[in-house]
Amino acid sequence: MALGGITDGVSNLELTAAFAAIANSGYYTKPSFYTKILDHDNKVLLKNKPTGRQVMKESTSFLLTSAMEDVVKKGTGSSVNFNEISMPIAGKTGTTSDDNDLWFAGYTPYYTAAIWSGYDNNKTQTNKSYQKIIWRDVMQRIHEEYKLESKPFTKPDSIVAADICTKSGKLAVDGLCDKYIGGSTVKTEYFARGTVPTEKCDIHVKVTICKDSKQLAGEYCPESSLEEKVYLIKEEKSPTKDTPYILPTKTCTKHNSKTKNTPTNTPFPPSNNNTGDIAPTTPPYDNGANNGNNNGSNGNNGNNGNGNNGSGNNGGTDTITGDGTETNDETDIEFYYDYSQ
Ligand SMILES: [Zn+2]
Ligand SMILES: [Zn+2]
Repeated sequence: MALGGITDGVSNLELTAAFAAIANSGYYTKPSFYTKILDHDNKVLLKNKPTGRQVMKESTSFLLTSAMEDVVKKGTGSSVNFNEISMPIAGKTGTTSDDNDLWFAGYTPYYTAAIWSGYDNNKTQTNKSYQKIIWRDVMQRIHEEYKLESKPFTKPDSIVAADICTKSGKLAVDGLCDKYIGGSTVKTEYFARGTVPTEKCDIHVKVTICKDSKQLAGEYCPESSLEEKVYLIKEEKSPTKDTPYILPTKTCTKHNSKTKNTPTNTPFPPSNNNTGDIAPTTPPYDNGANNGNNNGSNGNNGNNGNGNNGSGNNGGTDTITGDGTETNDETDIEFYYDYSQ
């Protein structure tokens, strides 16, 4: 689709015929100003048979129509919507340098019209919307007088609809793209058959985060602080609207082995510890030794910590080694890809 100014311009007739071809499933009809001439006895003297040809695929014209419906629904052409009756409208505004030329060319499932406004001597216009108002008033009136019912633009069989993710441009994934913390990015789009994306969105990811630190949940985060959220995977050089929703990279620093509460039922020190020359020095399981290092945190984590420690130790995921340190084979980050769709 060519946009912008042209050296020798384009006539209103040419532009209207071009838009009418899009409206008419890609079939161009050469403009004519009469269909037949009759004499006073209604005898046909001249008949003007329309000539035309297919200039674009049906699917292409439908996709253009769908895109230009958005112009009217939520874009620069919204003021052309009819006041009294509801009718699908597709169209495009056009502007040349310094607002010397202003266009609106558009169509309904019934009629096509294009309005140009401007001065013969190429002067700047200050009212930049009256071409749209003229278009609306003319078109509304003809639809009203013929009592034309609202109907959607015809969708050819060569067009299919698919739910895509507007962030990745790939197929939307249930439970991810629609649950994105930045708002659902799922949009139903039309495609020419055979051009629907085949890959699923791979930049929305569900992770467990720690509510207290807003970082990725780590092994020490209490159960009650865990929350599943869908983030965006994206690299940025400077902040954008996406920035607040990008996947955190750090694991929770607020909860660590030192903030973890002391389990009361863990036997410590292990009975065999006193066989060596070196006494255990690691403090996590020794309240007395721990107090100095861990002021404040102990109090905060008392409630949450018990539950967490209990399940961790009893469930066998944590291991207390002979030297009193703790190991844990679990990974800190859990990715949940739901490709069940
Ligand atoms: Zn997505
Ligand atoms: Zn945490």
